[in-house]
Amino acid sequence: MVENVFFPVTLEETVGLLASLPEAKVLAGGTDLLVAIKEGKEKPRFFVSLSKITSQQVIEFKVDGLRIGATATHQSIAENAAVKAKYTAIAEAAGQIGSWQVRNLATVGGNLCSAVPSADIAPPLLAFGADVKLISRQGERTVPLSGFFQGPMQTVMEPGELLAEINVPLVPKSCGSCYLKLGPRAAVDIALVSAAAMVVVEDGICRSSGLALGAVAPTPLKVTEAEVALVGTKLTEDDIERAAAIAASAARPIDDHRASAGYRRKMVAVLTRRALQKARELALSSGREVER
Ligand SMILES: Cc1cc2nc3c(=O)[nH]c(=O)nc-3n(C[C@H](O)[C@H](O)[C@H](O)COP(=O)(O)OP(=O)(O)OC[C@H]3O[C@@H](n4cnc5c(N)ncnc54)[C@H](O)[C@@H]3O)c2cc1C
Repeated sequence: MVENVFFPVTLEETVGLLASLPEAKVLAGGTDLLVAIKEGKEKPRFFVSLSKITSQQVIEFKVDGLRIGATATHQSIAENAAVKAKYTAIAEAAGQIGSWQVRNLATVGGNLCSAVPSADIAPPLLAFGADVKLISRQGERTVPLSGFFQGPMQTVMEPGELLAEINVPLVPKSCGSCYLKLGPRAAVDIALVSAAAMVVVEDGICRSSGLALGAVAPTPLKVTEAEVALVGTKLTEDDIERAAAIAASAARPIDDHRASAGYRRKMVAVLTRRALQKARELALSSGREVER
């Protein structure tokens, strides 16, 4: 049973509490944690709530990219006009998480820290090459998101560490991106398979690309081999098909009651192809310098 809930107002106070209360759990939106407690999977003695730390709800454009505070809600990301325009796949993923009620409570930090393979916000952040800033009483460190997940519900975070913010590199002109999620229903269901694609096209050539998958491996999966294969191509249908085939063979899906591994692998190729086609279309139609 939870004995006490603490409401720190600064990050410093938060990491101090986490250091002195090893049996405490960070409580953000509670949409994963409270379910886990109800199911008996978590039994924290204390909650350290992030609800009063308003500084971490920020979505901010900086000279070197986008900063998203860990307690920004999915709804605030999905509705942010600049995120939609410049980091389309991130807004699309945030807008497909749970229901409207869930999105208004659930945070980006909570989605990453829960570290489930189907976490919707992870693939687009991986595709854009995001980093996470982790803080503790000992100091802070920056970890590439591609090195953050270690297995289902496992991350590199140490006891007493807090995920403070996510930083996404600046996107150059002519960047397009797309997130696609396959599930039984358009809302509320978690992904059977998901794919995020990002491409930068200049003078008809793909200068940079990002590709990541969800729900088809023990962790959200960045498909570096496919990203490399796309750079320098004209993003023809053949180039895209090749990248989709690489993604399908990189996936390590499982059979479960929701779908077979074989179906998931086939859908990786389909979603990757469609996400890349849409990202290419957006990149070609934008062709403008990104404002800061
Ligand atoms: C009905 C329903 C539908 C859902 N649908 C989807 C869906 O479609 N897609 C999807 O991806 N998810 C879905 N979820 C899962 C959930 O909403 C998300 O994972 C959500 O983003 C978790 O964020 P939260 O703020 O609620 O985290 P919490 O539940 O508060 O915390 C989750 C975990 O992360 C830790 N934590 C939280 N923030 C931090 C931090 N800043 N630093 C360190 N540790 C932290 C907590 O201690 C806890 O262990 C759904 C959940 C529900 C209940």
